[in-house]
Amino acid sequence: MHPFTYTRVSDTRAALAAGRRGGRYIAGGTTLVDLMRETVETPDTLVDISALPLHEVTATEGGGLRIGALVRMAEAAAHPAVREAYPVISQALELSASPQLRNMATIGGNIMQRTRCTYFRDVSANCNKREPGTGCAARDGFNRSHAILGTSDSCVATHPSDVAVAFAALEASVHLLGPDGAREVPFADFLLEPGSTPNREQALHKGELITAVEIPAHPRPLRSGYLKVRDRQSYEFALTSAAVALHIKGGVIHAAKVAAGGVGTVPWKLPAVEQRLLGERPSKSLWTEASELAADGARPLHHNGFKPALLRRTVERQLRIVGGTK
Ligand code: SF4
Repeated sequence: MHPFTYTRVSDTRAALAAGRRGGRYIAGGTTLVDLMRETVETPDTLVDISALPLHEVTATEGGGLRIGALVRMAEAAAHPAVREAYPVISQALELSASPQLRNMATIGGNIMQRTRCTYFRDVSANCNKREPGTGCAARDGFNRSHAILGTSDSCVATHPSDVAVAFAALEASVHLLGPDGAREVPFADFLLEPGSTPNREQALHKGELITAVEIPAHPRPLRSGYLKVRDRQSYEFALTSAAVALHIKGGVIHAAKVAAGGVGTVPWKLPAVEQRLLGERPSKSLWTEASELAADGARPLHHNGFKPALLRRTVERQLRIVGGTK
């Protein structure tokens, strides 16, 4: 392992000062330590931010919810306010990783986690994300689990987070604190598609710290849920997934929030599906027609030609589960 220094900070000012000097933030460490062992990541300085006061889940004045960046995945999933208002978040978290990892990993770390592309984690393979300009071994390699949406010639890796799909569907925002102050970034702008710079994955400035993820208020009642399709029932990443939230009033869909996971280089919002649902009455044919739009623009690779159809079926099934079938 590459030698590094370790510093533990107890206030945000010290954290930001260390971050500005190039320190790498760490909290649960469930991704970063693995990558350091494999020498995929070689930070010189780790700044342990676990003691910062970012452990709360709080209601916002507008009726939304703010989840501190250091809230553990298991805590967020079990929090009564999350369970009551946004089951889609609880379900996405509970379908992630293992109980041990969920007890360690934080919300901020979860959305920062890096891809599970095997070539990215194999330092002998060519990988533009790990080492810009070296090529992409996955393009001509085994790419069954890779992305079909948002890909580029440089990279076709999926974003691995489940809860990020729920955040994308619910149009969350990410609160950041940096040397130049605080700012709020829409979730849709926070995670970056690879383009020609797949090594740049988040819209973060140097030394910035995630302080919270905020879910805006949505009309109530809001039915929601998360469906994950994977090769085995536990401790596995999504081949496809769907986060769905619907506000149905008087038998009509007044709000529809839908995003997909396991298929995009970032959590993939599905605006065409949402638009097709608005103003309609729930029905089996509506779920089918809307889900037909889920894979628009998909570009399958050699080994994942099954994903567009699987994605459509995943979205259809989750619309049926959340919205009911007449
Ligand atoms: Fe690297 Fe992306 Fe290609 Fe995987 S898909 S090898 S992460 S460049």
